[in-house]
Amino acid sequence: MKVSGRAKNVPPSATIAVTARAQELKAQGVDVVNFGAGEPDFDTPEYIKDAAVEALKAGKTKYTPARGIVELREAIAKKLQNENGLKYSPEQVIVNFGGKHSIYEAMQAVLDAGDEVILPCPYWVTYPETIKLAGATAKIVTGDKANSYKITPQQLKEVITERTVMLVMNSPNNPGGFTYTPDELSALAKVIEGTDIMVLSDEIYEKLIYGDTKFVSFASLSEDAYNRTLTLNGFSKAFSMTGWRLGYAAGPLEVIKAMGRLQSHMTQNPVTFAQYAAVAALGEPAAEAIENMRVEFERRAEYMAQRLNGIDGVVCPEPTGAFYCFPDVSNYYGRIINRTKISGSMDFAKALLEQANVALVPGLPFGCDKNVRLSFACSIEQITKGLDRLEKWLKG
Ligand code: PMP
Repeated sequence: MKVSGRAKNVPPSATIAVTARAQELKAQGVDVVNFGAGEPDFDTPEYIKDAAVEALKAGKTKYTPARGIVELREAIAKKLQNENGLKYSPEQVIVNFGGKHSIYEAMQAVLDAGDEVILPCPYWVTYPETIKLAGATAKIVTGDKANSYKITPQQLKEVITERTVMLVMNSPNNPGGFTYTPDELSALAKVIEGTDIMVLSDEIYEKLIYGDTKFVSFASLSEDAYNRTLTLNGFSKAFSMTGWRLGYAAGPLEVIKAMGRLQSHMTQNPVTFAQYAAVAALGEPAAEAIENMRVEFERRAEYMAQRLNGIDGVVCPEPTGAFYCFPDVSNYYGRIINRTKISGSMDFAKALLEQANVALVPGLPFGCDKNVRLSFACSIEQITKGLDRLEKWLKG
């Protein structure tokens, strides 16, 4: 059967592949510690589930406008105003089937063949693929380890060409676990001021920040930044709603309208009763549930980074956001561990899973072969057990 060239060129998501192998081993009865997860290990708060049940019972089971119900777009606009200092009308907001869908749709709505997108590295695996699927080219800029893998204004300046259409920003970052400071973001914004470059600012981890880290929305930096930014967010991480598939984008009306036109043919509206639950999610009890989760993640972030840095030859910047540690383990490349030669992050992850039953994600698909990603969306007990195993394995 024929498969399109487009589809042939898309590899499966590397993060999903690791989780699948870990699950396979688990099903065989192997005690696997899973650092591969890309989702919070907390359940969706009860008040959100209740709202979904109520919506179902009230018959909210039919199509809605393709861009989402107006109540939800209003609630999102209010959230963006109150929490992010961004003034968007509900018309400037679109609700999608998860942040992943928002990203895909944004790329489809904005990019043409030949366009260039500046993609800071490390990047989340979905970005290069969605850029490619839109016919455009990713121009990768790699952040320096000494700068916690964040890119500098000078680096940004150097990759801009007359074909540059978009800059992707993702802070707090998956997989890097870093967060740009407001000053760092302003310096990057200055570089593109007055150009035609649009910014896609993926703020899905905004609530998960640690220590004295401050989060600011890119669009709130200046009027210029506001006019060029598509702000992207979703319910998966902050509200532990990964399975509900709810993401959203807010920004320039032409772009939101274009996304809406695509959505009306591709998927129509996100699940109707889930949209009503999302309205409730943005209501009053949210702050407490989010803070409890954040505090727990903070504790784990500190512990995991401290343990990793305590391992000979492993270097890990302490995470300031999201729920990932992204240590450089390349000191072990070229070595033989338990009779297996470790040449890069793929070998490292595979051998660690098969030999010590610890699942993590290789850095290669995130653009950084020197690193591996460990998610701390699991209990302290699991983290302790997994890191004990990792430490022992590295001595093997
Ligand atoms: N952006 C980033 C950086 C992510 O890590 C993820 C989830 N892994 C998403 C967007 C999308 O999440 P969802 O589709 O569940 O909203």
